[in-house]
Amino acid sequence: MPRRTKIVATLGPATDDDGVLDAMIAAGVDVVRLNLSHDTHARHRVRVEQVRRRALAVDREVGVLIDLQGPKIRIGRFSDSPITLAPGDIFTIDASCPLEAGDQERVGTTYPELGQDVAPGDTLLLDDGGVELLVQAVTGPAIRCRVVNGSKLSNNKGINKKGGGLSASALTEKDIEDIKTAALLKADFLAVSFPREGEDMHLARRLLNEAGWDCQLVAKIERAEAIDNLDEILDASDAIMVARGDLGVEVGDAAVPALQKRMIRMAIEKNKLAITATQMMESMITSPIPTRAEVSDVANAVLDGTDAVMLSAETAAGKFPVEAVAAMHRVCLEAEKEAEPDFSGERLMKSFLRADEAIAMSAVFTSVHLHVKAIAALTESGSTCLWMSRLSTRVPIYALTPQVETRRKVTLFRGVYPINLKTESKDREVLLAEAEEELRRRGAVREGDLILLTIGEPIGQAGGTNTMKIVRVGAHKRN
Ligand code: PGA
Ligand code: MN
Repeated sequence: MPRRTKIVATLGPATDDDGVLDAMIAAGVDVVRLNLSHDTHARHRVRVEQVRRRALAVDREVGVLIDLQGPKIRIGRFSDSPITLAPGDIFTIDASCPLEAGDQERVGTTYPELGQDVAPGDTLLLDDGGVELLVQAVTGPAIRCRVVNGSKLSNNKGINKKGGGLSASALTEKDIEDIKTAALLKADFLAVSFPREGEDMHLARRLLNEAGWDCQLVAKIERAEAIDNLDEILDASDAIMVARGDLGVEVGDAAVPALQKRMIRMAIEKNKLAITATQMMESMITSPIPTRAEVSDVANAVLDGTDAVMLSAETAAGKFPVEAVAAMHRVCLEAEKEAEPDFSGERLMKSFLRADEAIAMSAVFTSVHLHVKAIAALTESGSTCLWMSRLSTRVPIYALTPQVETRRKVTLFRGVYPINLKTESKDREVLLAEAEEELRRRGAVREGDLILLTIGEPIGQAGGTNTMKIVRVGAHKRN
Protein backbone atom coordinates (compact mmCIF):
# COMPACT_ATOMS: atom_id res chain seq x y z
CA MET A 1 0.00 0.00 0.00
CA PRO A 2 1.41 3.43 -0.83
CA ARG A 3 1.88 5.88 2.06
CA ARG A 4 -1.30 7.93 2.53
CA THR A 5 0.03 10.79 4.66
CA LYS A 6 2.02 13.31 2.64
CA ILE A 7 5.43 14.73 3.49
CA VAL A 8 6.24 18.44 3.17
CA ALA A 9 9.95 19.33 3.35
CA THR A 10 11.36 22.84 3.63
CA LEU A 11 14.15 23.73 1.21
CA GLY A 12 17.26 25.58 2.27
CA PRO A 13 21.04 25.52 2.04
CA ALA A 14 21.12 21.88 3.19
CA THR A 15 18.98 20.72 0.25
CA ASP A 16 20.46 22.73 -2.63
CA ASP A 17 22.72 19.98 -3.89
CA ASP A 18 21.08 18.04 -6.77
CA GLY A 19 22.09 14.76 -5.19
CA VAL A 20 20.48 15.64 -1.85
CA LEU A 21 17.30 16.84 -3.51
CA ASP A 22 17.09 13.72 -5.69
CA ALA A 23 17.54 11.54 -2.62
CA MET A 24 14.82 13.46 -0.77
CA ILE A 25 12.41 13.03 -3.67
CA ALA A 26 13.27 9.34 -3.84
CA ALA A 27 12.73 9.06 -0.07
CA GLY A 28 9.19 10.37 -0.55
CA VAL A 29 8.87 14.17 -0.45
CA ASP A 30 5.46 15.14 -1.87
CA VAL A 31 5.57 18.92 -1.41
CA VAL A 32 8.49 21.31 -0.94
CA ARG A 33 8.14 24.47 1.13
CA LEU A 34 9.98 27.69 0.37
CA ASN A 35 10.20 29.84 3.48
CA LEU A 36 10.13 33.49 2.38
CA SER A 37 11.41 34.60 5.77
CA HIS A 38 14.80 33.70 4.30
CA ASP A 39 16.72 34.14 1.04
CA THR A 40 16.17 36.22 -2.09
CA HIS A 41 13.54 35.88 -4.80
CA ALA A 42 16.29 34.80 -7.19
CA ARG A 43 17.28 31.99 -4.84
CA HIS A 44 13.68 30.80 -4.50
CA ARG A 45 13.23 30.83 -8.25
CA VAL A 46 16.33 28.66 -8.71
CA ARG A 47 14.99 26.22 -6.12
CA VAL A 48 11.53 25.98 -7.66
CA GLU A 49 13.00 25.36 -11.12
CA GLN A 50 15.39 22.79 -9.72
CA VAL A 51 12.65 20.87 -7.92
CA ARG A 52 10.37 20.79 -10.94
CA ARG A 53 13.24 19.65 -13.16
CA ARG A 54 14.42 16.90 -10.84
CA ALA A 55 10.87 15.65 -10.17
CA LEU A 56 10.11 15.51 -13.89
CA ALA A 57 13.28 13.50 -14.49
CA VAL A 58 11.95 10.70 -12.27
CA ASP A 59 8.31 11.04 -13.40
CA ARG A 60 7.09 12.36 -10.05
CA GLU A 61 4.87 15.28 -9.14
CA VAL A 62 6.17 17.45 -6.32
CA GLY A 63 4.02 20.38 -5.17
CA VAL A 64 5.54 23.79 -4.38
CA LEU A 65 4.35 25.64 -1.26
CA ILE A 66 5.38 29.27 -0.89
CA ASP A 67 5.24 30.37 2.73
CA LEU A 68 4.96 34.14 3.29
CA GLN A 69 6.92 35.67 6.13
CA GLY A 70 3.96 37.53 7.60
CA PRO A 71 4.10 40.10 10.39
CA LYS A 72 6.55 38.24 12.57
CA ILE A 73 7.45 40.86 15.16
CA ARG A 74 11.09 40.90 16.16
CA ILE A 75 13.44 42.66 18.49
CA GLY A 76 16.29 44.64 16.95
CA ARG A 77 19.98 43.87 17.26
CA PHE A 78 22.51 44.31 20.07
CA SER A 79 25.70 46.26 19.67
CA ASP A 80 27.28 43.41 21.61
CA SER A 81 25.28 40.22 20.90
CA PRO A 82 24.16 38.13 22.71
CA ILE A 83 23.13 39.57 26.04
CA THR A 84 22.07 37.52 29.05
CA LEU A 85 18.92 38.34 31.01
CA ALA A 86 18.32 37.06 34.53
CA PRO A 87 15.04 36.89 36.50
CA GLY A 88 14.32 40.21 38.18
CA ASP A 89 16.24 42.31 35.61
CA ILE A 90 14.51 45.33 34.16
CA PHE A 91 14.54 45.30 30.36
CA THR A 92 12.84 47.73 27.96
CA ILE A 93 11.61 47.06 24.44
CA ASP A 94 11.65 50.48 22.86
CA ALA A 95 10.55 51.23 19.32
CA SER A 96 12.44 54.53 19.51
CA CYS A 97 15.72 52.67 20.10
CA PRO A 98 17.63 52.33 16.79
CA LEU A 99 17.44 48.75 15.46
CA GLU A 100 21.21 48.32 15.70
CA ALA A 101 21.66 49.81 19.16
CA GLY A 102 20.34 47.29 21.69
CA ASP A 103 22.20 46.77 24.96
CA GLN A 104 21.74 45.16 28.37
CA GLU A 105 18.98 47.66 29.26
CA ARG A 106 16.90 47.99 26.10
CA VAL A 107 16.40 46.90 22.51
CA GLY A 108 14.48 48.17 19.46
CA THR A 109 11.68 46.38 17.61
CA THR A 110 10.59 45.95 14.01
CA TYR A 111 6.99 46.82 15.00
CA PRO A 112 6.70 50.51 15.89
CA GLU A 113 3.11 50.17 17.20
CA LEU A 114 3.96 47.50 19.76
CA GLY A 115 3.47 49.97 22.62
CA GLN A 116 -0.18 50.46 21.62
CA ASP A 117 -0.92 46.73 21.80
CA VAL A 118 0.41 45.96 25.28
CA ALA A 119 -0.48 47.06 28.79
CA PRO A 120 1.00 46.54 32.25
CA GLY A 121 0.40 42.94 33.34
CA ASP A 122 0.83 41.47 29.85
CA THR A 123 3.41 38.79 29.21
CA LEU A 124 5.78 39.10 26.25
CA LEU A 125 7.68 36.06 25.08
CA LEU A 126 10.92 36.41 23.17
CA ASP A 127 12.73 33.72 21.20
CA ASP A 128 9.83 31.21 21.19
CA GLY A 129 9.35 31.58 24.91
CA GLY A 130 13.02 31.34 25.91
CA VAL A 131 12.71 34.75 27.57
CA GLU A 132 9.55 35.73 29.47
CA LEU A 133 8.91 39.38 30.27
CA LEU A 134 6.18 40.88 32.45
CA VAL A 135 5.15 44.33 31.24
CA GLN A 136 5.36 46.92 34.05
CA ALA A 137 4.81 50.22 32.31
CA VAL A 138 4.23 51.52 28.81
CA THR A 139 5.38 55.06 28.02
CA GLY A 140 4.79 55.87 24.35
CA PRO A 141 6.99 53.48 22.37
CA ALA A 142 8.87 52.22 25.46
CA ILE A 143 7.68 49.02 27.14
CA ARG A 144 9.35 48.56 30.49
CA CYS A 145 9.42 44.91 31.59
CA ARG A 146 10.59 42.76 34.43
CA VAL A 147 12.36 39.56 33.39
CA VAL A 148 10.47 36.51 34.69
CA ASN A 149 12.53 33.88 32.90
CA GLY A 150 15.77 34.85 31.31
CA SER A 151 18.51 33.37 29.23
CA LYS A 152 20.79 34.37 26.41
CA LEU A 153 19.12 36.70 23.95
CA SER A 154 20.59 37.34 20.52
CA ASN A 155 19.72 39.56 17.54
CA ASN A 156 16.34 39.61 15.72
CA LYS A 157 14.49 37.12 17.92
CA GLY A 158 10.71 36.93 17.63
CA ILE A 159 8.28 38.63 20.03
CA ASN A 160 4.92 37.08 20.88
CA LYS A 161 2.28 38.29 23.30
CA LYS A 162 0.83 35.57 25.49
CA GLY A 163 -2.88 35.18 24.76
CA GLY A 164 -2.56 37.02 21.44
CA GLY A 165 -3.83 40.50 20.67
CA LEU A 166 -1.10 42.10 18.56
CA SER A 167 -2.83 44.19 15.93
CA ALA A 168 -0.31 43.88 13.07
CA SER A 169 -2.21 43.07 9.88
CA ALA A 170 -1.53 39.68 8.36
CA LEU A 171 -0.07 40.86 5.06
CA THR A 172 2.97 43.12 5.18
CA GLU A 173 4.42 45.17 2.30
CA LYS A 174 6.93 42.37 1.81
CA ASP A 175 4.17 39.74 1.69
CA ILE A 176 2.32 41.73 -0.97
CA GLU A 177 5.49 41.72 -3.10
CA ASP A 178 6.09 38.04 -2.34
CA ILE A 179 2.58 37.14 -3.54
CA LYS A 180 3.61 38.45 -6.97
CA THR A 181 6.64 36.17 -6.83
CA ALA A 182 4.41 33.24 -5.88
CA ALA A 183 2.32 34.02 -8.97
CA LEU A 184 5.41 34.22 -11.21
CA LEU A 185 6.67 30.90 -9.88
CA LYS A 186 3.22 29.33 -10.36
CA ALA A 187 3.13 28.15 -6.74
CA ASP A 188 0.79 25.24 -6.06
CA PHE A 189 0.18 26.35 -2.47
CA LEU A 190 0.47 29.79 -0.88
CA ALA A 191 0.73 29.90 2.91
CA VAL A 192 -0.37 33.04 4.75
CA SER A 193 1.38 33.52 8.09
CA PHE A 194 -0.43 34.86 11.17
CA PRO A 195 -3.92 35.36 9.67
CA ARG A 196 -6.42 36.58 12.27
CA GLU A 197 -9.66 36.20 10.35
CA GLY A 198 -11.21 35.05 7.10
CA GLU A 199 -10.75 38.46 5.52
CA ASP A 200 -6.94 38.08 5.68
CA MET A 201 -7.26 35.02 3.48
CA HIS A 202 -9.70 36.71 1.10
CA LEU A 203 -7.25 39.59 0.71
CA ALA A 204 -4.39 37.20 -0.06
CA ARG A 205 -6.58 35.48 -2.66
CA ARG A 206 -7.50 38.82 -4.27
CA LEU A 207 -3.84 39.88 -4.47
CA LEU A 208 -2.86 36.52 -5.94
CA ASN A 209 -5.64 36.73 -8.53
CA GLU A 210 -4.64 40.31 -9.39
CA ALA A 211 -1.14 38.99 -10.02
CA GLY A 212 -2.69 36.58 -12.52
CA TRP A 213 -2.60 33.35 -10.55
CA ASP A 214 -4.72 31.15 -8.33
CA CYS A 215 -3.73 28.17 -6.20
CA GLN A 216 -4.49 26.43 -2.92
CA LEU A 217 -4.38 28.85 0.01
CA VAL A 218 -3.01 27.63 3.32
CA ALA A 219 -3.85 29.52 6.53
CA LYS A 220 -1.14 29.09 9.14
CA ILE A 221 -2.88 28.88 12.49
CA GLU A 222 -0.36 30.53 14.80
CA ARG A 223 -2.23 33.30 16.59
CA ALA A 224 -4.62 32.97 19.49
CA GLU A 225 -7.28 34.95 17.55
CA ALA A 226 -7.11 32.50 14.66
CA ILE A 227 -8.44 29.77 16.95
CA ASP A 228 -11.53 31.85 17.75
CA ASN A 229 -12.05 32.56 14.05
CA LEU A 230 -11.20 29.10 12.79
CA ASP A 231 -14.57 28.53 11.09
CA GLU A 232 -14.35 31.60 8.88
CA ILE A 233 -10.62 31.13 8.24
CA LEU A 234 -11.30 27.57 7.07
CA ASP A 235 -14.15 28.77 4.85
CA ALA A 236 -11.80 31.28 3.22
CA SER A 237 -8.93 28.79 2.74
CA ASP A 238 -8.18 25.45 1.09
CA ALA A 239 -5.96 24.21 3.89
CA ILE A 240 -4.67 25.02 7.33
CA MET A 241 -1.26 24.52 8.84
CA VAL A 242 -1.10 23.64 12.51
CA ALA A 243 1.85 26.01 13.03
CA ARG A 244 2.87 24.73 16.43
CA GLY A 245 5.90 26.98 16.83
CA ASP A 246 4.26 30.38 17.10
CA LEU A 247 0.92 28.95 18.22
CA GLY A 248 2.57 27.25 21.18
CA VAL A 249 4.06 30.54 22.28
CA GLU A 250 0.74 32.40 22.05
CA VAL A 251 -1.62 29.85 23.59
CA GLY A 252 0.88 27.95 25.75
CA ASP A 253 2.60 24.77 24.63
CA ALA A 254 0.31 22.50 26.66
CA ALA A 255 -2.78 23.64 24.73
CA VAL A 256 -1.36 22.69 21.34
CA PRO A 257 -1.89 18.89 21.17
CA ALA A 258 -5.65 19.07 21.79
CA LEU A 259 -5.95 22.05 19.44
CA GLN A 260 -4.13 20.06 16.78
CA LYS A 261 -6.74 17.31 16.98
CA ARG A 262 -9.62 19.79 16.93
CA MET A 263 -8.19 21.72 13.98
CA ILE A 264 -7.56 18.62 11.87
CA ARG A 265 -11.08 17.35 12.51
CA MET A 266 -12.64 20.72 11.68
CA ALA A 267 -10.62 20.98 8.48
CA ILE A 268 -11.66 17.55 7.25
CA GLU A 269 -15.31 18.10 8.12
CA LYS A 270 -15.24 21.27 6.01
CA ASN A 271 -13.56 19.52 3.06
CA LYS A 272 -10.27 21.29 3.72
CA LEU A 273 -6.71 19.99 4.12
CA ALA A 274 -4.48 20.00 7.20
CA ILE A 275 -0.69 20.14 7.52
CA THR A 276 0.92 19.44 10.89
CA ALA A 277 4.12 21.44 11.29
CA THR A 278 7.12 22.39 13.41
CA GLN A 279 9.61 20.44 15.49
CA MET A 280 8.27 17.09 14.27
CA MET A 281 11.75 15.63 13.96
CA GLU A 282 13.65 18.52 15.53
CA SER A 283 16.50 16.43 16.97
CA MET A 284 17.31 15.23 13.44
CA ILE A 285 18.79 18.66 12.71
CA THR A 286 21.89 17.18 14.31
CA SER A 287 21.14 13.47 14.75
CA PRO A 288 20.59 10.73 12.13
CA ILE A 289 17.75 9.16 14.10
CA PRO A 290 14.65 10.70 15.69
CA THR A 291 13.77 10.43 19.38
CA ARG A 292 10.98 8.13 20.52
CA ALA A 293 8.92 11.21 21.34
CA GLU A 294 9.32 12.54 17.79
CA VAL A 295 8.36 9.19 16.29
CA SER A 296 5.29 9.26 18.50
CA ASP A 297 4.47 12.82 17.50
CA VAL A 298 4.55 12.05 13.77
CA ALA A 299 2.56 8.84 14.26
CA ASN A 300 -0.04 10.66 16.36
CA ALA A 301 -0.51 13.33 13.71
CA VAL A 302 -1.19 10.51 11.23
CA LEU A 303 -3.72 9.01 13.65
CA ASP A 304 -5.29 12.45 14.07
CA GLY A 305 -5.98 12.35 10.32
CA THR A 306 -3.58 15.04 9.10
CA ASP A 307 -3.08 15.24 5.34
CA ALA A 308 0.61 16.01 5.69
CA VAL A 309 3.45 16.18 8.16
CA MET A 310 6.07 18.86 7.68
CA LEU A 311 9.83 19.22 8.14
CA SER A 312 11.30 22.69 8.68
CA ALA A 313 14.91 23.19 9.74
CA GLU A 314 15.36 19.39 9.76
CA THR A 315 15.67 19.52 5.98
CA ALA A 316 16.38 23.22 5.26
CA ALA A 317 19.39 23.54 7.52
CA GLY A 318 19.87 20.12 9.09
CA LYS A 319 22.70 17.64 8.82
CA PHE A 320 20.42 14.75 7.83
CA PRO A 321 17.73 16.01 5.42
CA VAL A 322 17.37 12.72 3.54
CA GLU A 323 17.29 10.65 6.72
CA ALA A 324 14.59 12.95 8.15
CA VAL A 325 12.33 12.35 5.13
CA ALA A 326 13.03 8.61 5.25
CA ALA A 327 12.22 8.52 8.97
CA MET A 328 8.91 10.30 8.43
CA HIS A 329 8.07 7.95 5.59
CA ARG A 330 8.56 4.81 7.66
CA VAL A 331 6.77 6.22 10.71
CA CYS A 332 3.74 7.27 8.61
CA LEU A 333 3.53 3.88 6.88
CA GLU A 334 3.58 2.05 10.18
CA ALA A 335 0.98 4.31 11.80
CA GLU A 336 -1.29 3.90 8.79
CA LYS A 337 -1.63 0.18 9.54
CA GLU A 338 -3.96 1.31 12.33
CA ALA A 339 -7.58 2.10 11.38
CA GLU A 340 -8.14 5.44 9.67
CA PRO A 341 -9.66 8.06 11.98
CA ASP A 342 -13.37 8.12 11.32
CA PHE A 343 -14.70 11.47 10.15
CA SER A 344 -17.19 10.02 7.67
CA GLY A 345 -20.07 8.85 9.80
CA GLU A 346 -22.19 11.98 9.79
CA ARG A 347 -21.78 12.56 6.08
CA LEU A 348 -24.14 9.69 5.31
CA MET A 349 -26.90 11.66 7.02
CA LYS A 350 -26.29 14.82 5.03
CA SER A 351 -27.75 15.73 1.68
CA PHE A 352 -25.42 16.86 -1.06
CA LEU A 353 -25.92 19.87 -3.25
CA ARG A 354 -23.84 18.60 -6.12
CA ALA A 355 -23.87 15.44 -8.21
CA ASP A 356 -20.07 15.23 -8.27
CA GLU A 357 -19.90 15.31 -4.48
CA ALA A 358 -22.54 12.60 -4.26
CA ILE A 359 -20.61 10.44 -6.76
CA ALA A 360 -17.43 10.91 -4.75
CA MET A 361 -19.19 9.76 -1.57
CA SER A 362 -20.81 6.78 -3.28
CA ALA A 363 -17.50 5.80 -4.81
CA VAL A 364 -15.74 5.57 -1.46
CA PHE A 365 -18.69 3.83 0.18
CA THR A 366 -18.86 1.28 -2.64
CA SER A 367 -15.11 0.73 -2.76
CA VAL A 368 -15.00 -0.14 0.92
CA HIS A 369 -17.94 -2.53 0.81
CA LEU A 370 -17.01 -4.22 -2.46
CA HIS A 371 -13.31 -4.65 -1.62
CA VAL A 372 -12.22 -2.51 -4.52
CA LYS A 373 -8.44 -2.39 -4.96
CA ALA A 374 -8.15 1.16 -6.29
CA ILE A 375 -10.25 4.17 -7.16
CA ALA A 376 -9.40 5.87 -10.43
CA ALA A 377 -10.87 9.36 -10.58
CA LEU A 378 -10.61 10.95 -14.02
CA THR A 379 -10.67 14.55 -12.96
CA GLU A 380 -10.06 18.05 -14.27
CA SER A 381 -10.07 20.20 -11.12
CA GLY A 382 -9.34 17.49 -8.53
CA SER A 383 -12.40 18.30 -6.45
CA THR A 384 -13.79 14.75 -6.77
CA CYS A 385 -10.56 13.48 -5.21
CA LEU A 386 -10.78 16.05 -2.43
CA TRP A 387 -14.25 14.85 -1.41
CA MET A 388 -13.16 11.22 -1.64
CA SER A 389 -10.13 11.85 0.53
CA ARG A 390 -12.22 13.55 3.27
CA LEU A 391 -13.77 10.15 3.99
CA SER A 392 -12.11 7.47 6.04
CA THR A 393 -10.79 4.95 3.58
CA ARG A 394 -7.66 2.94 2.92
CA VAL A 395 -8.49 2.41 -0.73
CA PRO A 396 -5.91 4.36 -2.76
CA ILE A 397 -7.39 7.16 -4.85
CA TYR A 398 -5.62 7.84 -8.14
CA ALA A 399 -6.19 11.27 -9.64
CA LEU A 400 -5.83 10.80 -13.38
CA THR A 401 -5.65 14.09 -15.19
CA PRO A 402 -3.88 15.80 -18.07
CA GLN A 403 -3.87 19.06 -16.01
CA VAL A 404 -0.44 19.56 -14.46
CA GLU A 405 -1.76 22.06 -11.87
CA THR A 406 -4.32 19.52 -10.70
CA ARG A 407 -1.69 16.80 -10.39
CA ARG A 408 0.45 19.08 -8.25
CA LYS A 409 -2.48 20.21 -6.13
CA VAL A 410 -3.40 16.66 -5.09
CA THR A 411 0.16 16.03 -3.87
CA LEU A 412 -1.09 17.29 -0.49
CA PHE A 413 -4.33 15.24 -0.32
CA ARG A 414 -4.21 12.30 2.04
CA GLY A 415 -4.43 9.01 0.14
CA VAL A 416 -4.56 10.62 -3.32
CA TYR A 417 -1.89 9.98 -5.97
CA PRO A 418 -1.50 12.00 -9.16
CA ILE A 419 -1.15 10.28 -12.54
CA ASN A 420 -0.61 12.00 -15.86
CA LEU A 421 -3.30 10.71 -18.21
CA LYS A 422 -1.77 11.76 -21.49
CA THR A 423 -4.52 10.69 -23.84
CA GLU A 424 -6.31 13.05 -26.23
CA SER A 425 -9.37 10.84 -26.49
CA LYS A 426 -12.81 12.19 -25.63
CA ASP A 427 -14.42 8.77 -25.74
CA ARG A 428 -15.48 7.53 -22.34
CA GLU A 429 -14.76 3.84 -22.90
CA VAL A 430 -11.34 4.56 -24.38
CA LEU A 431 -10.45 6.81 -21.44
CA LEU A 432 -11.59 4.32 -18.83
CA ALA A 433 -9.68 1.51 -20.54
CA GLU A 434 -6.55 3.65 -20.61
CA ALA A 435 -6.96 4.50 -16.93
CA GLU A 436 -7.24 0.80 -16.13
CA GLU A 437 -4.14 0.04 -18.20
CA GLU A 438 -2.17 2.83 -16.50
CA LEU A 439 -2.98 1.48 -13.02
CA ARG A 440 -2.01 -1.99 -14.10
CA ARG A 441 1.23 -0.75 -15.63
CA ARG A 442 2.13 0.92 -12.33
CA GLY A 443 1.43 -2.21 -10.35
CA ALA A 444 -1.46 -0.53 -8.50
CA VAL A 445 -3.83 -3.32 -9.61
CA ARG A 446 -3.52 -6.81 -11.04
CA GLU A 447 -5.58 -9.13 -13.21
CA GLY A 448 -8.77 -9.97 -11.34
CA ASP A 449 -8.77 -6.91 -9.02
CA LEU A 450 -11.76 -4.60 -8.92
CA ILE A 451 -11.28 -0.95 -9.89
CA LEU A 452 -13.82 1.77 -9.35
CA LEU A 453 -13.62 4.53 -11.94
CA THR A 454 -15.31 7.92 -11.92
CA ILE A 455 -15.63 10.28 -14.85
CA GLY A 456 -17.66 13.26 -15.98
CA GLU A 457 -19.59 13.58 -19.20
CA PRO A 458 -19.25 15.54 -21.34
CA ILE A 459 -15.53 14.72 -21.11
CA GLY A 460 -13.05 17.41 -20.07
CA GLN A 461 -15.26 19.78 -18.06
CA ALA A 462 -14.32 20.69 -14.50
CA GLY A 463 -16.87 19.88 -11.82
CA GLY A 464 -18.72 17.43 -14.07
CA THR A 465 -18.14 14.03 -12.45
CA ASN A 466 -21.44 12.22 -12.84
CA THR A 467 -20.56 8.61 -13.60
CA MET A 468 -19.16 5.68 -11.66
CA LYS A 469 -18.14 2.36 -13.13
CA ILE A 470 -16.81 -0.81 -11.55
CA VAL A 471 -14.63 -3.10 -13.63
CA ARG A 472 -12.65 -6.26 -13.02
CA VAL A 473 -9.13 -5.85 -14.37
CA GLY A 474 -8.66 -7.83 -17.57
CA ALA A 475 -12.32 -8.84 -17.79
CA HIS A 476 -12.66 -7.62 -21.38
CA LYS A 477 -10.08 -7.85 -24.12
CA ARG A 478 -8.89 -4.64 -25.71
CA ASN A 479 -7.23 -4.25 -29.05
P1 PGA B 1 7.27 29.32 10.72
O1 PGA B 1 5.79 28.84 10.96
O2 PGA B 1 8.11 28.10 10.57
O3 PGA B 1 7.20 30.13 9.49
O4 PGA B 1 7.56 30.12 11.95
C1 PGA B 1 5.48 27.61 11.56
C2 PGA B 1 5.22 27.74 13.06
O5 PGA B 1 5.17 28.84 13.62
O6 PGA B 1 5.04 26.67 13.63
MN1 MN C 1 5.36 30.69 12.53
